[in-house]
Amino acid sequence: VSVFHPMAPGPVVDRTAQNVERVSQDLRSVYRSGKTKSVEWRVSQLKSLLRITTHYEKDILEALRSDLNKPELEAFSHEVYGVSSSCELALKELHRWMMPEKVKTSMINFPSTGEIVSEPLGVVLVISTWNYPFKLSLDPVIGAIAAGNAVVLKPSEVAPATSSLMSNLLGEYMDPSAVKVVEGGVPETTALLEQKWDKIFYTGNGKIGRIILSAAAKHLTPVVLELGGKCPVVVDSNIDLKVAARRIIAGKWGCNNGQTCVAPDYVMTTKEFASTLIDALSSELKKFYGKDPLQSKDLSTIINSRHFDRLTKLLDDEKISGKVVIGGQRDKANLKIAPTVILDAPEDSLIINEEIFGPLLPIVTVDKIEDCIGLINSKGKPLAAYLFTNDEKLKEEFVRNVSAGGMAINETSMHIAESTLPFGGVGESGMGSYHGKFSFDTFSHKKAVLRRGFAGDADIRYPPFTPEKVKLL
Ligand code: NAD
Repeated sequence: VSVFHPMAPGPVVDRTAQNVERVSQDLRSVYRSGKTKSVEWRVSQLKSLLRITTHYEKDILEALRSDLNKPELEAFSHEVYGVSSSCELALKELHRWMMPEKVKTSMINFPSTGEIVSEPLGVVLVISTWNYPFKLSLDPVIGAIAAGNAVVLKPSEVAPATSSLMSNLLGEYMDPSAVKVVEGGVPETTALLEQKWDKIFYTGNGKIGRIILSAAAKHLTPVVLELGGKCPVVVDSNIDLKVAARRIIAGKWGCNNGQTCVAPDYVMTTKEFASTLIDALSSELKKFYGKDPLQSKDLSTIINSRHFDRLTKLLDDEKISGKVVIGGQRDKANLKIAPTVILDAPEDSLIINEEIFGPLLPIVTVDKIEDCIGLINSKGKPLAAYLFTNDEKLKEEFVRNVSAGGMAINETSMHIAESTLPFGGVGESGMGSYHGKFSFDTFSHKKAVLRRGFAGDADIRYPPFTPEKVKLL
C-alpha cells in the first residue's frame, strides 16, 4: 500500500466477498499457493493494518461514536491504540514467534534433534461482536495474519458504522485475495458457518457460541469461543477504599458503560462493609460523571433499544424494587442509563442470574469475606474475577481456588491490557485464548518434527524379535 487518502464516498470493498459460498473456496486456493505463508506477505499486511489505524483514526473514532457514542479518549485507548499496539508487537516479534522451537529428545531416538514448527492452519473465520467492534474484530485478524493464514472477518451487524468502515478499509488496503470482510447478520453468518474453515474464532454470547461449536463439529473445525458471563468483584474491608472504588468504577462504567465482557458484573462484600463501599462508590461516581450522569459525555450509550429494554427489564424486576441505592435514572430516547447500584437483590432475581452487560451493578453481601470463594465457584466459571484486599492469605486462596478465565488483584479489567498474559475464558466463559504471542499460537498448528541421520540404527527395533533381543529390553 503506497497511497492513503481520505475515505472515498460509498463502498469500495470487493463485493464478491458477499458471495459467501465462494469466499472460503477462493481463499483456500490462494492459501494453497503459499502466498500467505511468506514472512513478507505477513509483514506487508500487518503494516497495512497499522497504517489504516493511523491514517483513518478520525473515521474510526467517528464510527465508534455513531455506534456507541463512545467517548473519544476511551475509543482511542481501547480500540485504535489497542489495534495499533497489537500490530506493532506482531511486527516486532514475528520473526521470533515464527522460529522453530528446539526441544530435547530421548535415548529412544539417539542421535536426533526435535523441534516444534509453527505452521498456519489455513483459511480461518473470525466472527466478532459489537461492544469493541474495531478492536475485537481486528485483534484476532492480526493473530491470523501473523500466523500466515488467509482470513475472513464477519464483524457484528449491531455496530453497523464500524462494520462498514472496516469492510471498506480492509477491502481497499489489505490483500483482497487473502483477507476478506463479509458484512451481515444471522443469514450471512449461517451461510459462512456451512463452509469448511480451519479455525473459527468467535466472540459473543454463549447461546450463539453453542451454534458455532455445533456447526464447526461437522467439519472437525477447531474453535475459539470468547464468551461472557458474570464477573465477580470481591471487596474486603482492609483496603484503600478510594482507590478500590475508582478502579471498580473504571472497570464497570468507564469501559463502555458496563457493556464489556470483563466488566464487574456483581460485587461481593460483607454485610458490615456494604454501606461504606456504597458511600465511596457514590462519592467517586459523582466526581467522575457529575450530579446528573445522564448528561455526562464520558459515558457510552446503550448500543440499541433491544439492549436498553433488556437492561430496564432487569431493573424493573419487582424482586429488586426498593433496592436501588445509587442511580436508576434512564433516558430511552437517547439510550442512556445512569450508573446504578443495587443492594442485596434476592437470589432468584433476574439481575443475579443473567449476565448484565450494562451499567447495573448488584452488591451481594456475605457474613465472612472467605464465603465469596465458594459462592463464585458454585456458578458458571467467569471470564474474569477480581479481589480487593490487603490480606495476603486471602489473595493466595483466591488465586488458587477461584476458577476464572483470568483475574486481577486490587484491579479490574486491566489484566487484559497485558500482551504477555493470555486472554480467554474457561468453562461457561469460553475456550481458547489470544493476545500477543497467544494470538499467533491460536492460529498456528504446532507441528512436531523429529530429525535423524542414518547413524545409530539399532537392530533391536526390527524383527525377528529373538529371545536375545527381548532380554535386552
Ligand atoms: P452480537 O449480537 O454482535 O453477536 C456476535 C456475533 O454472532 C455477530 O457477528 C452476529 O452476527 C453473530 N450471530 C448472532 N446470531 C447468530 C446466529 N443465530 N447464528 C450465527 N451467528 C450469529 O454480540 P453479542 O452476543 O450480543 O455480544 C455480547 C456477548 O459477548 C456478551 O455475552 C459478552 O460477554 C460477550 N463478549 C465476550 C468477549 C470476550 O472477549 N470474551 C468480548 C466481548 C463480548
